Formats: sequence, C-alpha cells, structure tokens
Amino acid sequence: MSNPLTKKERMQLDRTDMPERNAVERAASFEEVNLGLTAQMAQLEAMRCLECKKPKCVDGCPVGIQIDEFLMLVADGEIQAAAEVIQRDNLLPAICGRVCPQENQCEGTCVLAKKERPIAIGHLERYVADYMRMEGLQTVTEPPPPTGKSIGIIGSGPAGLACAGDLIQSGHAVTVYEALHEPGGVLVYGIPEFRLPKEIVHTEIAGLQQLGVVFEMNAIVGRTHTLDELLELHDAVFIGVGAGLPRFLGVDGENLIGVYSANEFLTRVNLMKAYLATAETPVLDVSGKRIVVFGGGNTAMDAARTAKRMGAADVRILYRRTEAEMPARIEEVRHAREEGIIFDFLVSPTELHGEDGMLGGVTLQRMELGEPDESGRRRPQPLEGEMTTMPTDLAVVAIGNGPNPLLLATVPDLERTRWGTIAVDEPTGRTSMEGVFAGGDIVTGGATVILAMGAGRRAAASIEDWLEDGNWVLEEDPIESAATDTTG
Ligand code: FAD
Ligand code: SF4
Repeated sequence: MSNPLTKKERMQLDRTDMPERNAVERAASFEEVNLGLTAQMAQLEAMRCLECKKPKCVDGCPVGIQIDEFLMLVADGEIQAAAEVIQRDNLLPAICGRVCPQENQCEGTCVLAKKERPIAIGHLERYVADYMRMEGLQTVTEPPPPTGKSIGIIGSGPAGLACAGDLIQSGHAVTVYEALHEPGGVLVYGIPEFRLPKEIVHTEIAGLQQLGVVFEMNAIVGRTHTLDELLELHDAVFIGVGAGLPRFLGVDGENLIGVYSANEFLTRVNLMKAYLATAETPVLDVSGKRIVVFGGGNTAMDAARTAKRMGAADVRILYRRTEAEMPARIEEVRHAREEGIIFDFLVSPTELHGEDGMLGGVTLQRMELGEPDESGRRRPQPLEGEMTTMPTDLAVVAIGNGPNPLLLATVPDLERTRWGTIAVDEPTGRTSMEGVFAGGDIVTGGATVILAMGAGRRAAASIEDWLEDGNWVLEEDPIESAATDTTG
C-alpha cells in the first residue's frame, strides 16, 4: 500500500505531539514522562513524510538509518518490517528513540524542519522498538558456528554493548568487563528512569546475554584485572570506558558538605536508589530545600529534575551562557521548565560558602556573551563588579566530564590526545597498541549515545578485519579526535 495522501494534504497535517504525563504529577514521580504514540498517531505521523528522493534525514542520522524506508513501512502499518530496517543500523532503537538529540540530527535535517515541523522521527523509532518489545516480537538470531576467537570488551555503555552485539553475531566469544555491579554505563547510572526506564536497558542486555555475551561485573580493568591479562585471554580488546571523571568548578568552598558532582548525585539516586529510606548510599535529604545545579547540558537537566522529584522546594539551573547556547536536548529543557525548574542565565559561581562545613550559599558573577570560542558558541565573560549571592542547601556540579582515568593510568604505552582521551585511527578505532581498539566517550570526550554506539560498531567491523588478516595497519597515525563535550 502506498501513502494515500497527496503532498499538499501531508503538508497540511500537524506534527503529532507526544502524549506526556501531567507536569505536576510527574514532578513528584520517577515514572517515564513521555507516554508513547498510539498506533493511530504513529501511522498518521509517518504519513506526513514527503518521501523525498534524496532523504536529508538519513544524512543527519550518525549511523545512517534508512529513515525514509522505515517511515513508509510505519505508514503502511508494517511495524515488524520497519523494525528490521532500523535494526540494520541501530541495535538500541528503544534507547536512541528516547534520548538522541534528534533536533540536531535526523529531525534537524528533515526538509520539514524549515517550517519547524520535522517528522517526529525519534518518537516513531521509539514506537517501533516499543511495539516489538511489548508484543514479544524481538528476533533472537541464532549466532553462526563459533569461530574460536575471543574478544574482551572493557565497559558496558552503548559503545561496549554495540561492539559486543556485532561480534557475538559473527560467532566470536565475547566477554564484557564492567566496573560497576550493573551493566549499561550512563544508560543505567546517569540517565534517570523518568527519561529512560531501566527495564528497556535490561531487555537490551538480556538479549545480548541470550546470544551468549558474558558480562563480568565488578571487574575494574586497571585494578582487579590488567589490560595485559585481558590481551592474554582474548584475541582482541575493545576499550569503551567512557568519560566518567567529573569536572569541578575550581572555586573556594567546593569541598563543603552538600556539594556533589552530577555523576555522584545521579549514580547514588539512579543506581543505588538513594531515594529509598533503606538506601545504603543516600544523598542529603533535599525535601523542602533549595538546590542549585551548575551547567546547561542533559546532565544538568537530569540532576535538577531528579532533585525536584526528591521533594526539593526550589531548584535552579545556573548557566554561564544563555538558553540559545545550552547543549541540552530541547525537550528536556521544556520538560524541566514545565516541572518548575527555574533557569538563571549568564551567571558563573566564584565561591561556595557555608558554616560548620555545610554549604549555605553561592556567590555568582554576572556574565555577558563575547566573541565565539572554539566550540562556536559565544564566550561568556564577566561583567565587572556585578556580583550577587544566593542561599542554597545543596549544589550539583554538572559542567562536563573528562576521560575515565582508572584504566589509562595503568597503560602508559597507549597513546593519548592532548585532552587525555585515547588516540585512535579513524574510522577503525585502532589504538597505538596492537590488538587494542577503542571508541565512544573515551575517544571523543562526552558525546551522545548514538555516536558511542556507532563507534562500537565500527570498531567491531575493524576487529573482524584484524582477526581475519592479522594485519595491524593504521590508515594514518592515531589521530587526535576532537573533544565534543560542550556541557559547559
Ligand atoms: P559510558 O556510557 O560512560 O560507559 C562506560 C562504562 O565503562 C561504564 O559502565 C563504566 O562503569 C565502565 N568502566 C569505566 N572504567 C572501567 C574500567 N577501568 N574497567 C571496567 N569498566 C569500566 N547522550 C544522549 O545521546 N542523549 C542524552 O539524553 C544523554 N543524556 C545524558 C545524561 C547524563 C547524566 C550523562 C552523564 C550523559 C548523557 N548522555 C546523553 C551522553 C551519553 O550517555 C554518553 O555519550 C554515552 O553513554 C557514552 O557511551 P560509552 O559507552 O562511551 O560510555
Ligand atoms: Fe521524510 Fe523528512 Fe526524511 Fe524527507 S527528510 S524523507 S520528509 S523524514
């Protein structure tokens, strides 16, 4: 069946809004905010697609999903076939449909974006993946006969999971070594339940386990295991340890009780269930308190919205630039605002202060925007003499992360970039050590789920080549990947 609507009729249709939990109700609950499209909504939304001859949306997707193809199938009600199209390029569609910054990717390049009504590609990707999961239609493909080769993967975030998924489906033995007690990386310890239900991440991981991927938890490579040991055990090793080292403000008072890095705050709440009275690693009680969060990225939004859900009375995002420069997904900013988070722009902390070792307030420098910096965003600069103070009970620092140092500190031979990330040959992910590959945030700096996943898949293909020909040729000297972290 082909789309019965004329181009003119499609252009007249409004973009279908995602049904959402009511803002007041959701600000007190960790349940998912977006409720998902109905079958009818999904079909209507897919019918809006103009079926461009040269679909720009595909160019905008970092892993090149054939978006035009899957949209046509959704419009025809062929959901299983649509899922097959998506899964050719994306192993984690239920996750990416929820957390990808679509406005800067596929939806940003959709021709209808010019009229601010791009097809809701992310919502449709999520719809297809959820339909498959809820109907129990996920296909567990039988892996080919074992090749006798074995690969060790360090880190179970999207980069490691994607790499593991491709390699196990080629018949190799795959073991994932994860430092934490639960696999998933930022997907489980960073992004909160109200944006990405953990059941979805668990289902994806269970699928990999069913295929034969072995997960070794509480395995800290660089402490409990060494890279050399892994190279003895495996024919190749992929490093996907992410960028989990929080950056701090570097101002006086940052050691006061009540100041958290976003990583610590979110990990305690998401992974260690700090909101339960029985939690072994609680956070300070925030109910009825004043909270400030420094930063303007997804991590800052997640920390602020989490604090609100834990009962904080007044939650503020303090950001040194303006809303236009904030790297957070537009949807998260809108949701945060609807839930009562207050935004103060063009302010930068110069000191945190308090009494008896406890945080009590923050001194802020007012800023203005100057010339663009290396990230292309206008550089914030202080407005001389314009200082202000703000009382606060708890502060969360969410200004970005550096490369995770645990493993790197133990392998001096592994070439690094000037940002401390692992230098790799692009696009193969080969490092300066033979048989060792790397990808994801540990190479790019803090980036996105889909970019990490794409890097994991490219490395898997490169591992296959290396296992086949044993030829460690680098396209060029390992290059310095540009750090993409624009959180601050
Ligand atoms: P990670 O997900 O960081 O996984 C690395 C894993 O390696 C971790 O599990 C870690 O415990 C493990 N590890 C580290 N060192 C060792 C070691 N020595 N031995 C064994 N294991 C080790 N991106 C989006 O696209 N959309 C979003 O909405 C979004 N929101 C975000 C919100 C937050 C709070 C954060 C922190 C990030 C967010 N991101 C988002 C970014 C995205 O999550 C990351 O870019 C992505 O997870 C990187 O994947 P990765 O596999 O490289 O690393
Ligand atoms: Fe459809 Fe937009 Fe892609 Fe064109 S660019 S095929 S309208 S989703």
